[in-house]
Amino acid sequence: MFKIKEIQIHNIGLPLQQTIHMSKVTIEKSNSIIIKAISTNDVVGWGEAAASLSMTGESAIGMIKALEYIRSDIINREIKSFDDISTFVQTAIYGNYGAKSAMEVALIDLFAKAQKVSFSDIIGTELRNELPIIWRIAGSENEIEEAKQKRDEGFQAFKIKVGAKNIDDDLRRAEQLRKSLGDAVQLTADANAGYSREDALKFCSQVDHVGLDYMEQPVNGYDIETMSKCNALMHTALSADEGIHSLADLALHHEKKAADGASLKLIKFGGMKSLFNAVNYMNDNAMHVNISGKAGDSSVSAATIGHISKVASKLDWFSNVSIQYLADDIIHNPMSIQDGKIILKSGLGLGIDVDEEKISQYAI
Ligand SMILES: [Mg+2]
Repeated sequence: MFKIKEIQIHNIGLPLQQTIHMSKVTIEKSNSIIIKAISTNDVVGWGEAAASLSMTGESAIGMIKALEYIRSDIINREIKSFDDISTFVQTAIYGNYGAKSAMEVALIDLFAKAQKVSFSDIIGTELRNELPIIWRIAGSENEIEEAKQKRDEGFQAFKIKVGAKNIDDDLRRAEQLRKSLGDAVQLTADANAGYSREDALKFCSQVDHVGLDYMEQPVNGYDIETMSKCNALMHTALSADEGIHSLADLALHHEKKAADGASLKLIKFGGMKSLFNAVNYMNDNAMHVNISGKAGDSSVSAATIGHISKVASKLDWFSNVSIQYLADDIIHNPMSIQDGKIILKSGLGLGIDVDEEKISQYAI
């Protein structure tokens, strides 16, 4: 048992190796809020949440304000269990799911270290330890050669970012990539809500011959009707991402046959319990599950995704982490990716050793 004596809130911008081009956004630098929580017996926990107006409606400034408020509610409170953490964080404030997720992760990391166990031991039961991740193909000039190289390194899953050009180009890219990479890999395309309704219907009516394993979020997240129509037009599975922020969103997509699976992000669900409720719902309803973060997240988020991935009741569409696209990271022992799989550090909590000089260096 211990109390939380201090919670620091850091706003950082991490440099990327290359600018990431998606349908509607270009990301040059990655903006995250990092939480450092310290207990009265000087155990430290870390958490991260991307600041993303498009995903959660939260700006970095807004997250800081929300976190200051949540902090005032948590400082000096005694923490006896994971349930305490979840209750304190989730009931401190309405909404603000990204901010809450960073705070919850930092407190779970701290609690796990205090209990001398790993993060995944606190949030569930380990179901898998091999964690293949998806390589993103984002429109670089030599994307086919790069993808082939990644396949040869051991990557089993690839996601083509489409929606930045026209649909004929996108279909051609997908077809060429399937031919070049072969049938053994999981190949998917993600429009990040970038197609118009007309283009989405056209793309989905023509995509089956390409051999994609699934198509993600052709239209904006509110347009469930077009998602349903797209799904009816193709045998290729349909994934929702921008349309999913809650269990209710998942149930609506399922009911309307607007998605066969979905990409889930902790920052949208706000905490472990609501995320796992969503995964369990998908498992019960034969939906496919992917767990991901935001492009440009650091190893703090990657470690969190790794631990979640170990215990999620279903994960057939693999996980995404983003550390492979960063030009620098904020930990001394960056997570590594070997044979297309994320390698979690053994050790207590998240197993990470944060480099606080890097946090100062990249402070915004
Ligand atoms: Mg997506």
